[in-house]
Amino acid sequence: MYWNARMECMPKDELRKHQFRELKTLVYRLYSFNNFYRGRMKEQGVHPDDIQSLEDIRKLPFMHKQDLRDNYPTKMFTSSREEVVRYHVSSGTTGKPTLVGYTAQDIDFWTDSLARALTSIGIGTGDVVQVSYGYGLFTGGLGLHYGAERVGATVLPASVGNTERQLELMIDLDVTAIACTPSYMIHMGEVAKKLGIDFQRDTKLRKAILGAEPWSEGMRKHIEDNLGIEAYDIYGTSELSGPMFMECEERNGIHVWGDVAIVEIIDPETEEPVPDGEVGELVITVLKKEAMPMIRYRIRDLTYALEEKCECGRTSTRIGRISGRTDDMLIIRGINVFPSQVEHTLMNIPEVGEQFMIILDRKGALDVMTVQVELSPEHFSDKMADMMAIKKRIDSDMKKYLNISVNVELMDPGSLPRFEGKAKRVVDKRVF
Ligand SMILES: [Zn+2]
Repeated sequence: MYWNARMECMPKDELRKHQFRELKTLVYRLYSFNNFYRGRMKEQGVHPDDIQSLEDIRKLPFMHKQDLRDNYPTKMFTSSREEVVRYHVSSGTTGKPTLVGYTAQDIDFWTDSLARALTSIGIGTGDVVQVSYGYGLFTGGLGLHYGAERVGATVLPASVGNTERQLELMIDLDVTAIACTPSYMIHMGEVAKKLGIDFQRDTKLRKAILGAEPWSEGMRKHIEDNLGIEAYDIYGTSELSGPMFMECEERNGIHVWGDVAIVEIIDPETEEPVPDGEVGELVITVLKKEAMPMIRYRIRDLTYALEEKCECGRTSTRIGRISGRTDDMLIIRGINVFPSQVEHTLMNIPEVGEQFMIILDRKGALDVMTVQVELSPEHFSDKMADMMAIKKRIDSDMKKYLNISVNVELMDPGSLPRFEGKAKRVVDKRVF
């Protein structure tokens, strides 16, 4: 089932022509009416007339998160205050937050992207969708809320926290789908278990839309096996509008709607495009955005692109699961390590529970990486020999997949911190 079959299944060559026309219009508009973008294009020595094909997008300058901070709050806006109907704000770890503005049409396109996404996994009229993303300045809550309403589902705006009450409502109101972070889904599962709630027996929940933090295939399997539901990966950031691209039922890559955005994957060092299927940095140009257009925005997420048509019939470019961030990358003794690799390695070990922490420290001149791992309650044992065997397995898997040796500390089930929002799994105590 499609929400907008014409756009979602448009033949690739036609779609590319459509993208080119939209890009050209966008570039002319920005060059003519916005000081920031005109300045940037002049700096780069590019004029809208130079954009003669879709590939010419590479002549345009990149945009970075820093541009949003430097132009805080509204210097990058291309719409007047009167036209802006909403703000969202994302907090940065350093410096000023980033502000995103939306016109009524921006909200409409964003909502439409989510309506396509929800339809692609069979959510519509008759479904009850529990939105357990934060409502407020963060885009997740309101974004999914509007999207789910548009497809005709009943929305339960649960937001984050008060998990016992969330579970009670889930049962009482026959919730069929939930949208939240993967770590919150796991947390909910743990709380449910303590309360004697079995998701399969006691709830109607069958689908979870998970995103807003990196997670792995291993974590998906873990969630699906434990809760008996289907988990789908959703993608977006506030700079693009919010969550808006998602896997379809094939679950073979995230569909990035071709009439909404252009995907490029580049080598972060050389800034040259990488071949189809190869991992690089995701660069997105949003074609449909009025208040704060994004051209060649470097999100800093690492992924790969799939150009061939999906089994579901949709023709848009798909991107693979985000495998890390260029700025999340940890450099340990000169080796690149992504927290997502650690997670993936751990989730494939049956004795391991749901929580882990990475602690980086320095002994003398040497970086030391410690991974604290919670064991699952079923595998926790008082026998020293059992514990040593598990530790040995984790040690050797880490060495095999990360290419470095780490200190493994086994932790009691339930002893590591839980996160209701985004999980913070890395503590870096090294002094730079
Ligand atoms: Zn598909």
